[in-house]
Amino acid sequence: MMLNPQSDQPQLVGSILRKPGTHLSFEFFPPKDLENLSKIYDVAAELKSLNPDFCSVTWGAGGSTIKNSLEVVKHLTHGMGILTVAHFTGLGITRDLADEFMERFIGSGINNLLVLRGDRPHAARETAFQGGAAAPTGALPRDSFKYAGDLLAYIRSKPHCGPDELSLLVAGCPEGHPEAESIEKDWDHLANKVRQGADGIVTQLFFDNGAFYRFKDGLKKRRVEVPISVGVMLVTRAKMIQKIIELSKCKVPAELNAAIERFVSDDASMEAFGIDYAARQVAELHDQGVRHFHFYTLNQSGPTAAVLKQLKGRLGERPTPAPRTVLIEYREYMAYPDSKLTDLFKKYGLDPNRPHDIVHNHALRRYEITQ
Ligand SMILES: Cc1cc2nc3c(=O)[nH]c(=O)nc-3n(C[C@H](O)[C@H](O)[C@H](O)COP(=O)(O)OP(=O)(O)OC[C@H]3O[C@@H](n4cnc5c(N)ncnc54)[C@H](O)[C@@H]3O)c2cc1C
Repeated sequence: MMLNPQSDQPQLVGSILRKPGTHLSFEFFPPKDLENLSKIYDVAAELKSLNPDFCSVTWGAGGSTIKNSLEVVKHLTHGMGILTVAHFTGLGITRDLADEFMERFIGSGINNLLVLRGDRPHAARETAFQGGAAAPTGALPRDSFKYAGDLLAYIRSKPHCGPDELSLLVAGCPEGHPEAESIEKDWDHLANKVRQGADGIVTQLFFDNGAFYRFKDGLKKRRVEVPISVGVMLVTRAKMIQKIIELSKCKVPAELNAAIERFVSDDASMEAFGIDYAARQVAELHDQGVRHFHFYTLNQSGPTAAVLKQLKGRLGERPTPAPRTVLIEYREYMAYPDSKLTDLFKKYGLDPNRPHDIVHNHALRRYEITQ
């Protein structure tokens, strides 16, 4: 349907995060049914105008969302020209299944993965990350990966999966993982994941910046030098965030706690407070030298866009995106009446309000649109 000219060199998030400047990324979860894909693409198109360095798409434990996760990653990458990281969890899958999933990733031109363990059976983790997919239930296969580091080392041991061909990110918990023996042990394990070949870390949510500074110091002591992207969770619904806090066991500063209690039945006030809180949190981290921010968008563009609007000027200018050419079949283009062309542009990550060139490619029977 459409191809974006691909360069021979894979675009790797690891090397992007090592470049100077502030880096932004946005996380989505795949819809449960494919009919709702267009909603995600609308959200992604709105957030693309903020020029993120990359987006990421979550993965249901055991590969339960593979079809929809891959569909979203492929469309964001090839259809909309957004560098996209696929999340990939190891708990509950065998080596053979991991090989099969890796073939699907590589065959779809996906060179960037966030390698995770996933949740334990019956952990009943509610689903901000997974779009509602359940954790694996029952006994795990005997050769299932036990930890994220095991899957990461397995991937790195495969041909053509070195750091110049594939970027692998991992998760880190500023307040320690809830199952960890101790926070120090948890950070030792995280440092090990980096030694096993991770190119960068994305953090679990936290609301107290002090926790992040201690985490950074802890990793520095362990000689971890890869970029660390701060996971930013926006508090837009009191009830939802109460659940997430309960599961992640993160500390909640008194100011935020009071707002959650006060706005338990007032979504509009909760959202306004949450946007302001996140903007202040990010601004302070930025003032302290943090340069990588990963927004858990929960598939909504408004709150993330509002935070970045409030921060305008504080994070520095976003780089201008390089022009890209999208090829759209005549047939598809013609199927859209003039009044709906905006939708077609959005579908391919083009901004109908920005200048663009359209050229007929008669040989391929496609329009080439460059923006
Ligand atoms: C940014 C982000 C995105 C996420 N996306 C998803 C997603 O898409 N899908 C999903 O299912 N979940 C997702 N999660 C949740 C994640 O799967 C859970 O947090 C999970 O409980 C732990 O994953 P991990 O990769 O950090 O695990 P690990 O690094 O394996 O750590 C898990 C626990 O094991 C301990 N540990 C690690 N290695 C060892 C070792 N060698 N020996 C002994 N103990 C060890 C750690 O200290 C920790 O307590 C995401 C989390 C984050 C932060």
